[in-house]
Amino acid sequence: MRRPCIAANWKMYKTSGEVTQFINDFLPRVKDVKDVEIVLAPAFTSLTTAAALLKGSNVGLSAQNMYFEKEGAFTGEISTAMILDSGCAYVIIGHSERRLYFKETDELLARKVKAAQAAGLIVIFCIGETIDERKADKTFDVIKTQLTGGLKDVNPDKLIVAYEPVWAIGTGVTASPEQAQEAHAYVRKELGGIFGGKADEIRIQYGGSVKPENVKEIMSKPDVDGALVGGASLKADSFEKIVKFK
Ligand code: PEP
Repeated sequence: MRRPCIAANWKMYKTSGEVTQFINDFLPRVKDVKDVEIVLAPAFTSLTTAAALLKGSNVGLSAQNMYFEKEGAFTGEISTAMILDSGCAYVIIGHSERRLYFKETDELLARKVKAAQAAGLIVIFCIGETIDERKADKTFDVIKTQLTGGLKDVNPDKLIVAYEPVWAIGTGVTASPEQAQEAHAYVRKELGGIFGGKADEIRIQYGGSVKPENVKEIMSKPDVDGALVGGASLKADSFEKIVKFK
């Protein structure tokens, strides 16, 4: 039985003060939620603040990115040790915005995934096709390349995959539950090729304009095991509704 994991990706939103406000509002709302793993991913600058507030709660903490080297002259980068030191148990790797704006390749991402897992972090590994790729009927090819390129020799026990069609991120356009299920089933099949029977235990989140109004239907699909949520996770009442999708 895969326990759903629903994560909030706050991207480059919220100062420490705003993170504090959100968490103080949010925690009492979700304190009784036991059947969903809840994760917040604030910007690096708010991680220690968030960790202190989340301590002892049922809400986990994630970073949004990291660098694979242990330490060194890498100005502006953050290591796994720094992320752990900030109180995170998770890290998002390969978000489409990182792939698109910061030119992160499958090869780089594979190194990040390995380094994160070696440090003990749970990786939320993002994949997904652009609208042009979907129109050209390349969705499955893209998914396959991203999975095989990014997840070579990694540990399936510390892995969550987020399927996020790029055309649905921040656009208000959501994949239909059927489109999501079709892609998730394909992702699971490919994970089976990489990890064998372990693929049945890996959570696959859906991401792309998830909101309180559509989460229940998407979550009803058999291979959808959670959500990675951007815009609709920024307000406590909206994210509460998503987490309590049942
Ligand atoms: C995301 O950033 O991963 C995301 C899915 O964003 P949104 O929910 O705003 O589409």
